[in-house]
Amino acid sequence: MAYATINPYNNKVVKEYPNATEKELQAALATGHARYKKNRQQPIAERAKILHNVAAKLREHSDELARACTIDMGKLLSESKGEVELVAMIADWFADHGEEMLAPEKIDTIATGTAEVHHSPTGIVVLVEPWNFPYYQIMRVFAPNFMVGNPMILKHASNTPTSAKMFADIVAEAGAPKGSLVNLFLTYDQVTEAIKDPRVQGVALTGSERGGTSVAAAAGKSLKKNTMELGGMDPFVVLGDANMDDVNNVAWRARLYNAGQVCTSSKRFIVMDNVYDQFVEDLKKNFSKVVPGDPLDPATSLAPMNSKKAKNKLQKQVDAAIAAGAKVAYGNKPIDLPGQFFMPTILTDIDKNNPAYSEEMFGPVATVYKVHSEKEAVEVANDNPYGLGGILFAGDANHGAEVATQIETGMVYVNNFMASLPELPFGGVKLSGYGREMSHMGEMAFTNEQLIVKA
Ligand code: NDP
Repeated sequence: MAYATINPYNNKVVKEYPNATEKELQAALATGHARYKKNRQQPIAERAKILHNVAAKLREHSDELARACTIDMGKLLSESKGEVELVAMIADWFADHGEEMLAPEKIDTIATGTAEVHHSPTGIVVLVEPWNFPYYQIMRVFAPNFMVGNPMILKHASNTPTSAKMFADIVAEAGAPKGSLVNLFLTYDQVTEAIKDPRVQGVALTGSERGGTSVAAAAGKSLKKNTMELGGMDPFVVLGDANMDDVNNVAWRARLYNAGQVCTSSKRFIVMDNVYDQFVEDLKKNFSKVVPGDPLDPATSLAPMNSKKAKNKLQKQVDAAIAAGAKVAYGNKPIDLPGQFFMPTILTDIDKNNPAYSEEMFGPVATVYKVHSEKEAVEVANDNPYGLGGILFAGDANHGAEVATQIETGMVYVNNFMASLPELPFGGVKLSGYGREMSHMGEMAFTNEQLIVKA
């Protein structure tokens, strides 16, 4: 069966789930569409109440949800708990601010009478989501669209089916009407079939460039609006006058959080020559402190990667980088445990022809570049096919923020760890995709901006 929970810590198959049937897909489309029609008449405040209930239920079931997430994809239990709290916070934020964001906007016009733009629902949105933050990835799209009144059909990753089912069950338990969010274990063909259906009006995908291009092509073929949150090779720029204690505190976490499997992980450390040696030494020290083990055990600080396939792919990429001239400053040794562990690794001396220069490595591998000027730092940061996020450390935060505007990514955090919050727009440019999730921008991703001019 394609959908299965296989514990990445011990490789045990915990539960398998059959693919959705054609009948289930048709039923989801019919109930979703009926829900859309009803939502058009429903006061937004009623949905806000339900979304607050979703947040409350998430908190009530936090322990079970966190455990399921860790068993599905391997992350540390403390990180799973943090994820559940974050998604509850996102739900509360959209419940609190959704109605205000969706209020009609008056436009000053020379036309006779008044003009207003109303933000109304458009229909079912298909969500295609990845395994790395099984709940957060759903909530980023679910909360704003639930407030708008767009029903959703969820196709989650094949390796996190238990988390997907639990999320949908929580939404139902919180009182969301039938059809608001239907989780289905869809095949790729069924995703395409759903996208073609006229009752579906939008598609939101978070995942790889490969998945993104196929789903965006299907959406384009039937002219369905879509948002794409894809991979990243985020730069972490350290200017020569940066506070190295702060850099030291943030850099290792920015790479190793979630076992390095985050689209906005810092993957390329671009460091000024005067602090380069110190930076590499500090990073080595921090990488050497992590303790691999059972992610359910609070003493563990290095989780396994999400799957054997992911670990093997990362090892191949590291081998290819070394074959092309990269030096191993730390790591790249096997970890003697049965799970999908990858030792945190630091690679240096990567030239432009090395595949590691432009290929995303989705695991605990840091690449470090030495630069000799701010201008060169910005050039290296931008010399990349991706453009999602980035972190920049500077002695003067205002100067750092100026340099940040030269970096071609959707988000840059200056002198700070990159933390996703509901009020902040999330998304990228170039191969990292298009559109924004979260914030007032995410709220408008799948609305009809209907102009009403009244004489
Ligand atoms: P994928 O793109 O393969 O998976 C993401 C989701 O898309 C899954 O639900 C997957 O389903 C689905 N999917 C993939 N191809 C299709 C298709 N043709 N039609 C319909 N659905 C599809 O990502 P991976 O799991 O391979 O993750 C690895 C890469 O994804 C990373 O290297 C990173 O670049 C990127 N990524 C980005 C994230 C972000 O937040 N921007 C988060 C996670 C990953 P299924 O599981 O059944 O294949």
